[in-house]
Amino acid sequence: MEKTSKKSFYITTPIYYVNDVPHIGHAYTTIIADALARFQKLAGKDVFFLTGTDEHGQKIEKAAAEKGLTPKALADSVVGRAQDLWKALNISHDFFIRTTMDFHEKGVQKLFQALVEKGDIYKGEYKGWYCVSDENFLADDVPVDSDGAKVCPDCGKKALVVSEETYFFRLSAYQDRLLALYAEHPEFVRPQSRLNEVASFVRGGLKDLSITRTTVKWGVPVPGDPVHTIYVWFDALFNYVTGIGYDWNPALFEKFWPADIHLVGKDILRFHAVYWPAFLMAADFPLPRTVYGHGWWLKDDTKMSKSKGNVLDPQAILKVFGPDPLRYFLLREIPIGQDGNFSHEGFLHRINSDLANDLGNLIQRTLTMIRNYFEGMIEGPEDETAEDLKVRTDFENLKARVFDLYDTCALNKALEEIWAYIGAVNKYLAASEPWIMAKDPARRPRLARVLLQAAAAIRGVSYLLFPVMPGSSEKIWGFLGEEKTPAALPFARLAFDGFRTGRKVEMPQALFPRVALKEFLGEEAAPPPAPPAARREPTKEGKQTMDIITYDEFKRMDLRVAHILKAERVPGATKLLKLEVDIGAEKRQMVAGIAETYAPEDLVGKKLIVIVNLKPAVIRGVESQAMLLAAVTGDNLALIPFFDRDVPAGAVVK
Ligand SMILES: [Zn+2]
Repeated sequence: MEKTSKKSFYITTPIYYVNDVPHIGHAYTTIIADALARFQKLAGKDVFFLTGTDEHGQKIEKAAAEKGLTPKALADSVVGRAQDLWKALNISHDFFIRTTMDFHEKGVQKLFQALVEKGDIYKGEYKGWYCVSDENFLADDVPVDSDGAKVCPDCGKKALVVSEETYFFRLSAYQDRLLALYAEHPEFVRPQSRLNEVASFVRGGLKDLSITRTTVKWGVPVPGDPVHTIYVWFDALFNYVTGIGYDWNPALFEKFWPADIHLVGKDILRFHAVYWPAFLMAADFPLPRTVYGHGWWLKDDTKMSKSKGNVLDPQAILKVFGPDPLRYFLLREIPIGQDGNFSHEGFLHRINSDLANDLGNLIQRTLTMIRNYFEGMIEGPEDETAEDLKVRTDFENLKARVFDLYDTCALNKALEEIWAYIGAVNKYLAASEPWIMAKDPARRPRLARVLLQAAAAIRGVSYLLFPVMPGSSEKIWGFLGEEKTPAALPFARLAFDGFRTGRKVEMPQALFPRVALKEFLGEEAAPPPAPPAARREPTKEGKQTMDIITYDEFKRMDLRVAHILKAERVPGATKLLKLEVDIGAEKRQMVAGIAETYAPEDLVGKKLIVIVNLKPAVIRGVESQAMLLAAVTGDNLALIPFFDRDVPAGAVVK
């Protein structure tokens, strides 16, 4: 795709049907738009990002009647579902348009009138299959059954052929101009394969389009002829111009029209790639640069839909994970034009391996070592070796490639490249063995250099992730002692040396907690695990409940020798102690239900076994980042183990 060169950038999502409960599909479109909008802002563009709701039509009218509401009251009562979801997903749209807004209705009428005067809209007779029970014409693509009749897809009743007076848009007159548009500006429809579909549809011949109904009342009335209501597409598509000021804020409209990207699901691509440019040509508006038809998220290989009962509610995922893991997964898993299959297993695997392991551990290890070895502030690094230099130059190359990939909407490729770099930095860190250097004061300048490169890489990577994971990116910058948010730094000024010596880093908080599948499928936020002493209590019958786990499951547990550095009581909790333990590469804080058996002073200096890769839990307001093992019989409790010889903190237990 050609790169953007103008100073402004205008991106839209479709307006979503207000009475639909927003699902992963809606979330996906809006997340793509948000990532692209955020990137273009970093790239120095003036960005306008529009989303909203389609609130007119027969279905709303009917749903409202069933509830004893006016259509507008129904729309008002449900529009918050989309608005709340965009808030929960950290969507940064500039305006949320509703087609019931006064300026939109006036704008649509004005455009309708202008096209009537031009002769592109004329009155005629529409003949079509009509469902008497639903008082609605069937869509043209409903197939004819074996008796040569059509059956209403909504209610299953036989439809009748009915004709009524209607206004037509002279679509047939635009066939040649549309074909010329596709030929001269192949970037008008993305991806390329969809351009071919659209062009061949247009080559097949275009019929004039009926754009009003007398059978639908809830909508924008035809100016001067109010028995006719302007029908779906003519009303809905023009939100893209009324939403940025057409007829009410000319300066805004001038600044942002034409749109750079209309992002749409592939099912509505034809309306956007055929009707929409024809309407705009008729109205003498410059044409948008690109209509981008993205793929669908399928569940069990079928499209999510309410009628199939396979709709995934993003709110359930957001409750457990917050927005960034979902944003990351949807953008990372597939290229924008293709379909993806959503599975909870796939989601968790990606989140645990890419976010918790690769990125989370890199941050956790690096910053913990800077805290432990340099009291949070790196000083006196030695000069860069070839390996250190490679971390720097690889970043500069990555930065340039990621810019181009974001700029051409290749979000999944950008994330792939970023993760390849994260993997390389993790390897660099492991190969440098900073925890061994830390034991030798003579190697301190070398240690400082390694941690400095890692911290600079983390800063750069988290900036590059800002369009996709804005919340996490801001948090990571906070840990690094940055005063500004990544949003305040233009992409062109991002440099590896943005992280320098003498800056104090914070103790990192867990960004991406691990969640087990079972816990997740409960669809409730996981309750914090009970303090260890309360776990595995005998049942009433006196038997232990026993779950068999596989060896692979056992291997997933990271058990380590922990050296207790500090111990204190948790205020207000008689059973709980707060411990600070050294597990080799880092220190952890943990909460344990052992205060009735052990006094804090008995524990300091002892070594025990802890699980270090358990999802952190907050117990009595204190974060517990590990869990210890203890033998429990009734009220009696004994910490295990006592080692028969000295072992270092951090030694692996297996
Ligand atoms: Zn029907």
